[in-house]
Amino acid sequence: MAYLPEVTLARWNALLARVRRSVPFYRERLGSDRPLESLEQVTELPFTEKTDFRDQYPFGMFAVPPEQVIRLHMSSGTTGRPVVTGYTRGDLALWAECMRRVLRYCTVNETDVLQNAYGYGLFTGGLGFHLGAESLGCTVIPTSSGVTARQAMLIRDFGTTVLTCTPSYALVLAEALRREGGGPTRLRAGIFGAEPWTEAMRGQIEAALGLRAYDVYGLTELGGPGVAIECSRQDGLHIFEDHFYPEVIDPVSGRGLPAGTPGELVLTSLRREASPVIRYRTRDRTVLDDTPCPCGSRFRRMRKITGRTDDMLIIRGENVFPSQIEEVLLGIPGLTGNYQLVVDRGQSRLDSLEVLVEHAPGIDEDEHSHPLLRLRAEAEVRERLGLNVSVLVLPPFSLPRSEGKAVRIIDRRQQ
Ligand code: ADP
Ligand code: ZN
Repeated sequence: MAYLPEVTLARWNALLARVRRSVPFYRERLGSDRPLESLEQVTELPFTEKTDFRDQYPFGMFAVPPEQVIRLHMSSGTTGRPVVTGYTRGDLALWAECMRRVLRYCTVNETDVLQNAYGYGLFTGGLGFHLGAESLGCTVIPTSSGVTARQAMLIRDFGTTVLTCTPSYALVLAEALRREGGGPTRLRAGIFGAEPWTEAMRGQIEAALGLRAYDVYGLTELGGPGVAIECSRQDGLHIFEDHFYPEVIDPVSGRGLPAGTPGELVLTSLRREASPVIRYRTRDRTVLDDTPCPCGSRFRRMRKITGRTDDMLIIRGENVFPSQIEEVLLGIPGLTGNYQLVVDRGQSRLDSLEVLVEHAPGIDEDEHSHPLLRLRAEAEVRERLGLNVSVLVLPPFSLPRSEGKAVRIIDRRQQ
């Protein structure tokens, strides 16, 4: 059963009237200004795509005057031009409400000590969890990501009970805690998201850290984390349908799919003021589940995200497109556009990205030039994409060639 259809329809019509009034982009896109008569008509509205965010960068999709925007966040985006999202005071209150709810669904309360190891800064994860945890009233330790030895120390010294970070970083922390010995911690819950992770990984994390691991979902375009969260059943993520309207579509035809059929998640933010978004194609693959959950939540669930419909890689929570790497490589004289990306999850449990690339034939066979090319490529990827990769410069024609689409990505994480 869909969540409160009449209320939702009224929210849709208020949203449509608002964006038609204040965002030229949507006024043009949406055409006729007739209100919707039923939620079925939502499927007749146009989608919004990531390229629209890029084209409207930075503030073209904002629906309020600049003086009402009190916070900006941003994600790395696809082709250099990032995705920007803004918040009014009301939006921050709404985000705080969603994040408080996220925490409550995962049994967090005022007595908890929450260590927030999501990155603070432009990334929505760190400040989103900070906001929710502070407004719930638990004790927040704002470690941000990284400095693993200190994180492990604080988990013990401050008696951390709740850990929030990416699932891959949770395993790094588990490893650090194990290495230093010292017996069990007070950890009891972990809220992990920003990248896909499997049930197998949940098992590993829960065993290694001695906590219950919950999956949290969100994205910058919709305002960050706090779109959907698992409940204590850990069996699908409840979507906060009073704020976000979910659909699952066939990624090829764009047609709506019934609950139970896998497809691409499409989301609308019903109440965000500064950066509302209509029918956003997330490219994330999931299944809508409209069966009631034993926890009693009014919100429908979606299954864990299984991947993306496009080729975006998520390396340690950072979004990377092969095309971005290609651009960097092609900007370096002496390297060619023949490359392959090998993604792996090494012993450290962190995702690693190795870039195999060929140097141009005949540039020179001096072996000293290869280390220089390698260092330069690594430095430029780090500088332009904020990502540490290792580059291997190979002689010409070392990489396999294919007839049709080149195989650019070898993802060993799934093997
Ligand atoms: P953030 O990482 O802050 O949520 P980004 O906009 O950088 O925001 O990335 C959003 C993307 O991250 C989503 O579209 C999705 O592909 C991925 N993602 C976020 N949370 C999850 C999750 N729990 N499971 C799988 N993928 C996720
Ligand atoms: Zn539930």
